Amino acid sequence: MPDGLDNQRTSAHPPAVKAAASYLVDSRELSFFLWELFEIDKEFLGRAPFGDLDRSAIERQLVDARSFAAKLASCNAEADRNGAHLAPDGSVVIPGAYRELWDEWQRDWQWLRHSAAQDRPGRVPPIVTQILFELFLGANASFTTYGGFTLSAVRLLQRHATDRQKQLLLGPLLSERWDATFCATEAQAGSDLSAVETSGEPIGGDVYSIAGHKKYITAGMHPLTENTIYLVVGRLKGASSNPFKLSCFLVPRYWLEADGSLGPNNVECVHVEDKMGFNGCANTHLVFGGRGATRGFLLGNRPHIALLQLDLLMKAARAASGQIGVAMASSAYLHSVRYARSRVQGRRFTESSNAAAPRVAIIEHADVQRMLLEMKAKVEGCRGLVGKAAFHASKALQLLAQQPVDDSALNRHVKMALLYTPIIKAYGSDEAWRVATLALQVHGGAGYLRDRPLEQYARDIKVLSIWEGTNYVQSQDLLRDKLGFGRQSLLMRYFESDLRGFLSRRDEFPPFAGEFSALSAALDELLGTLDRVRQLADAGRFLEISQFCTRFLEMFGEVILGWVLMEAGCIAAKRLAALPAGDADRPFYEGKVKTARFFIYNILPGVAAKAEILRHCDHSFIEVDEAEFGFTGDAADAVPAPPAAATPRCSENDGAGGAAVNRGGA
Ligand SMILES: Cc1cc2nc3c(=O)[nH]c(=O)nc-3n(C[C@H](O)[C@H](O)[C@H](O)COP(=O)(O)OP(=O)(O)OC[C@H]3O[C@@H](n4cnc5c(N)ncnc54)[C@H](O)[C@@H]3O)c2cc1C
Repeated sequence: MPDGLDNQRTSAHPPAVKAAASYLVDSRELSFFLWELFEIDKEFLGRAPFGDLDRSAIERQLVDARSFAAKLASCNAEADRNGAHLAPDGSVVIPGAYRELWDEWQRDWQWLRHSAAQDRPGRVPPIVTQILFELFLGANASFTTYGGFTLSAVRLLQRHATDRQKQLLLGPLLSERWDATFCATEAQAGSDLSAVETSGEPIGGDVYSIAGHKKYITAGMHPLTENTIYLVVGRLKGASSNPFKLSCFLVPRYWLEADGSLGPNNVECVHVEDKMGFNGCANTHLVFGGRGATRGFLLGNRPHIALLQLDLLMKAARAASGQIGVAMASSAYLHSVRYARSRVQGRRFTESSNAAAPRVAIIEHADVQRMLLEMKAKVEGCRGLVGKAAFHASKALQLLAQQPVDDSALNRHVKMALLYTPIIKAYGSDEAWRVATLALQVHGGAGYLRDRPLEQYARDIKVLSIWEGTNYVQSQDLLRDKLGFGRQSLLMRYFESDLRGFLSRRDEFPPFAGEFSALSAALDELLGTLDRVRQLADAGRFLEISQFCTRFLEMFGEVILGWVLMEAGCIAAKRLAALPAGDADRPFYEGKVKTARFFIYNILPGVAAKAEILRHCDHSFIEVDEAEFGFTGDAADAVPAPPAAATPRCSENDGAGGAAVNRGGA
């Protein structure tokens, strides 16, 4: 059955609510990020490979991106309420508005997704792509999942595929006539991919028969493209359960027949997940080979190296997760500022018992200011964290365009972008969730209602800490794989030298002397903690380390945010010194200074607190026995569901019985 577009709301879905207020963007903030914080005109524009770009070209792209983002945002709430689903005929139905948006995306923006994969004029530095994409991700993150793995698939094929695989698959993927999705998870294989059971068996030539189930697959089936290439993690039939024996299969949804036509390939969607958020995205349970042979290719004809081959794809997806978090958290913050300015409640703290004092907007209450400043610091800080990685990626492209290539500088920039990736994914998503919950709190009861976008942001954001490897997996990646438990911490030395470079400018900013000291002390705590981890590793005490990975990643995130917010604060202090009193830009820069100070004195002390926890190295979490969590879960604890006939009806519309129950209770 062909998949469909939901142009009508059906009774199977809750009635549409009033469209939530639209996506909010702070253009001044984005402009500060590009032109003042990262100084992209000085660093990148007008120089290879970005030679044909100037400031006005980027400004135009931003204006165009904003207007496309407005279109995306206009159906974000409705796509949430009337999400993707499986129709009775087995086809996957996605929000109807996505067709037109997809066509526009293809026409006007597809080049952006691919500009990084190809050497072409108009190529933009990744740091600009970050901001353009932020607009799309914040406006309608579900929409952006369609085709979200296509660029990574292109890179994967360019790097690892055989000539025949490239010849068959690359062209349609590059033009986005086809898309790609990533299929790793199975019911029994989530974080633990060594439990993957999907198999591939050679059936002649370079073709394999693929059999298995894949769960949760993002944008796994939809009507937007002619064909989809599934990047399936499986194992050759008979291969052991060793995680290093996993292979990557390229499985087309429709098989490429010899005459160039597309034929059936027995890929079925048996279920579309009913989720908490990202409802416009079809998360599909796919079956390969259930109703006849599903054919596929083994990537590069090389077995057992899926995890190595897919490494780049997973890193890109992890960085994107943090970016989605920043994008939605930013809008949640801006909604909160707007609401707090308009909601009048209570009198100033100092005049709370003076009945004659005027009531004030809640933005004047200290606790609301605390929440707003935390949100502002986390949003701007996490955008800066993503920016650090994007800056290194932009520098790497710049170095590659020069002859001869400076390999050592290139290597350093590439490595630094990699170091930041797990922090962007985990810290970025956790803090986006925190910002979303603060936004709800600032709105009070109004935030809990569905006619505002806050609750959707919270529901959409939550998955970011779960998918693409849970945040615990990211923290292990950081501490074990990137930093070698402190034993081969070349990346930490690079990081330390970059941050110390900034700290050495302390004398330029005397009013920030205290803040510079606090940031320097936090860096020392981070380095001291890594050294403590090294000592534990040398002593073979890995169980203790494993319990500390998450907190180490948080410490690292906090130090980086302290750094980027202080950089912004210092730039702002310089601008303020030159601006006349009453200049319209003064509040913007004053806000930057106060945000940096707030973070340094209210959030950064968490670094020392976590360092102290590791120094103390409490063993309760290692020693606690499974039974000591309480709750035996036996029959005596369970509250059994009543027999169906005795189940009370909950709505008067459900029938006479329900009405009687409700009225009886009233
Ligand atoms: C909306 C959505 C979209 C998704 N899209 C895709 C997709 O496109 N493709 C795809 O392949 N998958 C996808 N997934 C699956 C996702 O990647 C998995 O849910 C994720 O990897 C976690 O696996 P799990 O759900 O089985 O959780 P589990 O692995 O069961 O983890 C449960 C908890 O236990 C912890 N845990 C597990 N193992 C360990 C350990 N060894 N040590 C310490 N803690 C541990 C985890 O950190 C977590 O807190 C998606 C999931 C969702 C919800």
